[in-house]
Amino acid sequence: MKRIAIDMDEVIADFHAKHLHLFNTNYYESLTIEDLKGSRLWKIRPEFSKEILDFVDDPSFFRDLKVMEGSQEVIRELSKYYEIFITTAAMEHPSSFQAKFEWLNEYFSFIPQMNYVFCGNKSIIKADYLIDDSSRHFQGFQGQGILFSAPHNIYESGFIRVNNWYEVNDYFFNNNRQTK
Ligand SMILES: [Mg+2]
Repeated sequence: MKRIAIDMDEVIADFHAKHLHLFNTNYYESLTIEDLKGSRLWKIRPEFSKEILDFVDDPSFFRDLKVMEGSQEVIRELSKYYEIFITTAAMEHPSSFQAKFEWLNEYFSFIPQMNYVFCGNKSIIKADYLIDDSSRHFQGFQGQGILFSAPHNIYESGFIRVNNWYEVNDYFFNNNRQTK
């Protein structure tokens, strides 16, 4: 079986919805996903960059993120034909380990726990595909990188790109259709 490595945040877990909501609520703003295009929250509000990163270091932050639409159905189907690993750069937020583990266990219980990979530098990952919203993780990755669209990467080019989980499904099941 070929292997697919799949990132968590902004790929199967809706990081932005909660992060933006927390920021807007705390700072009386009304930023939207549109405002994040081609950027990051801490870049467009540099005066609050520390507080913005602090939200994510709350040990419970990752526990109640929404599941990205279609991800459970598509990954369940993929898991019949491919070996699935969840590869998250959790070392960026060590306080997130417990919440991320519990979240995976709750929403992706069909993926064996031994296939959860909490890592830092993803070039160590040996898989045939890596689905990730951060293109930097494709550097040094030996397999095929697949960029999952997120506001911050919307203007990046030169990668195989999927805009949602239905396009992931198409990529793997319908002729490897490639969207650039
Ligand atoms: Mg990510």
